[in-house]
Amino acid sequence: MTGRLAIVGLGPGAASMRTPQAEAALADATDLVGYGPYLDRVAAEPDQRKHASDNREELGRARHALLLAASGRRVAVVSSGDAGVFAMASAVFEAVEAGEPGWRDLEITVVPGISAMFATAARLGAPLGADFCAISLSDNLKPWETVLRRLRAVAEAGFVIALYNPLSAARPWQLGAAFDLLREILAPATPVVFATAVSRPEERVAITTLARAEPSAADMRTLVLIGSAATRTIERHGAPPLVYSRRSVPA
Ligand code: SAH
Repeated sequence: MTGRLAIVGLGPGAASMRTPQAEAALADATDLVGYGPYLDRVAAEPDQRKHASDNREELGRARHALLLAASGRRVAVVSSGDAGVFAMASAVFEAVEAGEPGWRDLEITVVPGISAMFATAARLGAPLGADFCAISLSDNLKPWETVLRRLRAVAEAGFVIALYNPLSAARPWQLGAAFDLLREILAPATPVVFATAVSRPEERVAITTLARAEPSAADMRTLVLIGSAATRTIERHGAPPLVYSRRSVPA
């Protein structure tokens, strides 16, 4: 029996935003491994085993999945959005690099998913239509000074910024500090979007400006988008505004 491991992005939430390749990888698995709430989104067959773990235990979860695959099981490790964006794929490869030599011979597949920034951008218009970047605001895995240094660099360079993990109960002040820094660099009218639980029943999308942005508009299910000088808002009658970024930059 040869085991294998698929690292599967489930998309932002809605079943319609999960790819056929992800569905096939989930259906093929004997064992499903992941953070409990993400596993809850997968309708398992009675013969499929679910192994739920806590949010903070990514490396342990990755090792567990590799051990199962090495023992001959067909394992699917699930992440929300894309599994390679602030998610389980890197944790699995960190575990492979530091772990059993035999783990390098396992068949490991990464199945892409629609990341929160793409689902959010599609709701708004085309805010990522020009140069953009993604930054996780979490300082669980990197120093806060590094987060601020990177924010300053990309804001000064004119990128649209997708902020993942804007805050949580354990990290209540970071988003406010990020807005303070960005207000030193960007115009007060810079568009800011709070997109919460995109594609799920409780979806909420709010469009505001950097001058008016309040951290309390975000929670841990929110993606915060900060526009650049190229980002425009088109007001409409009886419909939410369109947000897009122009493709050209004046010379
Ligand atoms: N791998 C995921 C990101 C995981 S990090 C992806 O590619 O989307 C978790 C963060 O993702 C959350 O704090 C939030 O910022 C963002 N996020 C995940 N799902 C979301 C959704 N449905 N709507 C808005 N933001 C979401």
